[in-house]
Amino acid sequence: MTSAFAAVPAPVKISYNVTFPEAQAHYADIEMTLTGLAQPSLEVKMPVWAPGSYLVREFAKNIESLSANTKGKALATTKINKNTWKINTAGISSVTVKYKVYAFELSVRTSFIDASHAFLSTTGIFLYPKGMVSSPSTVHIKPYKDWNKVSTSLEPVNGDIFTRTAPNYDILYDSPLEIGTQDVFDFDVDGTHYEVAMYGGGNYDKERLKVDMAKVIRAEVAVFGENPNKHYTFIVHNKQRNGGGLEHLSSTVLGASRDQYASPGGYRGFLSLVAHEHFHLWNVKRLRPIALGPFDYDNENYTTNLWIAEGFTAYYQNLILRHADISTPQDYLNDMTGDINTVENQPGTRVQPLAESSFDAWIKGYRPNENSYNTGISYYDKGAVVGMLLDLEIINDSNGKYSLDDVMKYMYDTYYKGKKRGYTDAEFKAGFEKFAGKKLDDFYAKYINGLDAIDYNKYLNYAGYKLVDNLADTQEPSLGVFTNSRKIITTVLRGGAGWVDGLNVNDEITAVDDTPVTDMGAILKGKKVGDKVNVTVTRDGQRIVIPVTLQRNNAYKYSITEIENASPKQLAVRKKWLKL
Ligand SMILES: [Zn+2]
Repeated sequence: MTSAFAAVPAPVKISYNVTFPEAQAHYADIEMTLTGLAQPSLEVKMPVWAPGSYLVREFAKNIESLSANTKGKALATTKINKNTWKINTAGISSVTVKYKVYAFELSVRTSFIDASHAFLSTTGIFLYPKGMVSSPSTVHIKPYKDWNKVSTSLEPVNGDIFTRTAPNYDILYDSPLEIGTQDVFDFDVDGTHYEVAMYGGGNYDKERLKVDMAKVIRAEVAVFGENPNKHYTFIVHNKQRNGGGLEHLSSTVLGASRDQYASPGGYRGFLSLVAHEHFHLWNVKRLRPIALGPFDYDNENYTTNLWIAEGFTAYYQNLILRHADISTPQDYLNDMTGDINTVENQPGTRVQPLAESSFDAWIKGYRPNENSYNTGISYYDKGAVVGMLLDLEIINDSNGKYSLDDVMKYMYDTYYKGKKRGYTDAEFKAGFEKFAGKKLDDFYAKYINGLDAIDYNKYLNYAGYKLVDNLADTQEPSLGVFTNSRKIITTVLRGGAGWVDGLNVNDEITAVDDTPVTDMGAILKGKKVGDKVNVTVTRDGQRIVIPVTLQRNNAYKYSITEIENASPKQLAVRKKWLKL
């Protein structure tokens, strides 16, 4: 007799063994075993990108010596495209796939292995079986030599730190692992346990970091009203020079410079990075553009909303430090001025709309070339500026009742927690409008989808501030190029003197009007706007003299200053904005 239950196939069990017999040569050896199979063939795939970093990185390029067997008997495998292997599994129920992964790129979204540690960015390490991304898996790690710690948000199995489990591939691919002898410290913030894994040493003070990181975390929880994690892991890679971060659901990976913690600016910079990546656990990891989840690991995932997902996170990374009283109001205004100067000085801000900058991140933002400064604008920088404009608009329009915080919380509650899906463009716009109490079509047409010059003073005036250009009166002449320390042109500014008269990127400037160049800062000494100079350059090994008519240096150097006799309403908006 056969029961109905017999017809239900047993779930496929998936496990990985990770060993490091050649850690010193930057290899991990992976064995992936699937049991309970009942299918004629199996396709295993490597993601092409790491969510949060919008570039196809082709992680399969680091795989070698892939083979498959069943209980030791070899199985035929065929590579059918750049990141997929097909295995004949007819008549068998279990398969083991073995491969090596080369890992020698220490960044927040790639993997690195040497004798001192392994950082496994999981999208580039673990193959997944096609059609089974919702399956759980287990990862067994055999550490190399003296490695004795694993830092990851993947849960341990039966208390074994070297055996971790993921309920599905979205979680596995969202949970990097740091394995080695890292310096680990931990702390609790209102019921959530935080672990910080420091690799590479550094002049950090653990006790001070515990206090200040907790302040940052509390200020962020206050925006969204809840901390959805019970455990959260910071993996920090300290190097001679390092920076950047990548967000995950319950962890993050940060880059820091070993010596940055002791200086006030360096320390605040680190906390700002902490604030940025931790803010993402809500903004983009949970409250997300509809295109960013469930992820397509095979292709680009296009969205016009990175100015919210990244730009607002960049806005909050500094604002949170102010709200946590780590930054002074002046520190914060300086941070904001930095973003404004970056946006306004870049010619590309007048070429590429903000929504398009987001959409084209895959081919432009993440693939810059020598002309990018002229053709694009970062959705981080302009997104942060737009975040400020909308925050001020909402505070002003609601007479101090609401701020951008209320929009973020409302969107989180409505779409992540309520509808359990991502948001569309129109839905986020409606969220702003709900709290501003008015339509924002004009704002979107100008600043999100259009190229209008930003009317900063309209918004800053709400808080009794104004924007001042400290270079407004300068008549300094300029060649309109940026050079490196070897006097080689790295950027020719759109519309500037060098652009008009034909200076090129990679030209080495050797003389101006027969005076050899020793100090780039002094090459136009005694010249004025409108003068014609002969610029001698070396281009492709040849000496060329190029006549250039000098233009006014049209760089901006803004600062935000208080207006005199601010009204009570302006002061109230300022108080709400900066939590004075
Ligand atoms: Zn970010």
